[in-house]
Amino acid sequence: MPTQHFNGTIIIGAGPSGLMIADILSAAGKKVRIYESMPTPGRKFLMAGRGGLNITHSEGFDQFVSRYGEASATIYPLLKTFGPKEVIEWMTQLGQESFIGSSGRVFPKAMKAAPLLRAWLDRLKNQGAELITRHRCIDWQDNHLTLESPDNTFTVTADQIVFATGGGSWKKLGTDGQWTALFKSNQIKINPLAPSNCGFISPWSDHLREHYAGKPLKGVNLSTELRHKKVILC
Ligand SMILES: Cc1cc2nc3c(=O)[nH]c(=O)nc-3n(C[C@H](O)[C@H](O)[C@H](O)COP(=O)(O)OP(=O)(O)OC[C@H]3O[C@@H](n4cnc5c(N)ncnc54)[C@H](O)[C@@H]3O)c2cc1C
Repeated sequence: MPTQHFNGTIIIGAGPSGLMIADILSAAGKKVRIYESMPTPGRKFLMAGRGGLNITHSEGFDQFVSRYGEASATIYPLLKTFGPKEVIEWMTQLGQESFIGSSGRVFPKAMKAAPLLRAWLDRLKNQGAELITRHRCIDWQDNHLTLESPDNTFTVTADQIVFATGGGSWKKLGTDGQWTALFKSNQIKINPLAPSNCGFISPWSDHLREHYAGKPLKGVNLSTELRHKKVILC
């Protein structure tokens, strides 16, 4: 099958990152096509909204940036351009009002991600962005992407290619981290994927277990020692 060329940007992955890139490019009149391996887009985003979609935090900007620890300096200019205020405005433009919870965290009033995702996909469609599901990127060499669908396997090139393929957790939602192999085969150095949310075992006191087991924890600071170095967890 001959290689097709797409005169625009191909984005691999229809999670929030891929949809945001598609939104910005298509709003600027650029041609965009998203390939997503799953039958529907934004599956992890929808999962994120199941227990209440925490979209950002209402604390002061400097405090907010400091939460990124060693990465704060890198993240700072990005958040200056598109930070908590802009995220809330973006959500409001999509018809989703927000509220601040008792912990200071910000949520859409609907709590769930589904209404936001629906409005977002509608806007992308109106802006001319193409979304092609059930297409998995299985190879990438010299600007050639190999896509596998239930019907065929084909190669496509594009003016720009963006990988927005997520992390390595929740495989059933599409994010299996297998893109790391594609990057390695292109001699791109990547840091090993590591969990940023994780469980831990702690010998809580009888008092804590008896009075607080199963209760939600809010506004908590945790720290631990890692190789004799104190690490602030949150
Ligand atoms: C239970 C849970 C609760 C969460 N709660 C929150 C919350 O309250 N607030 C918050 O901000 N975040 C929350 N998150 C995190 C949030 O969901 C993720 O940070 C976000 O989805 C990451 O977006 P992404 O676009 O980078 O990646 P993803 O959402 O993982 O999207 C990547 C997409 O790429 C596709 N893909 C991967 N490989 C390929 C390939 N080779 N070819 C084609 N497509 C491919 C995947 O199918 C997927 O759709 C939560 C996550 C979970 C699991």
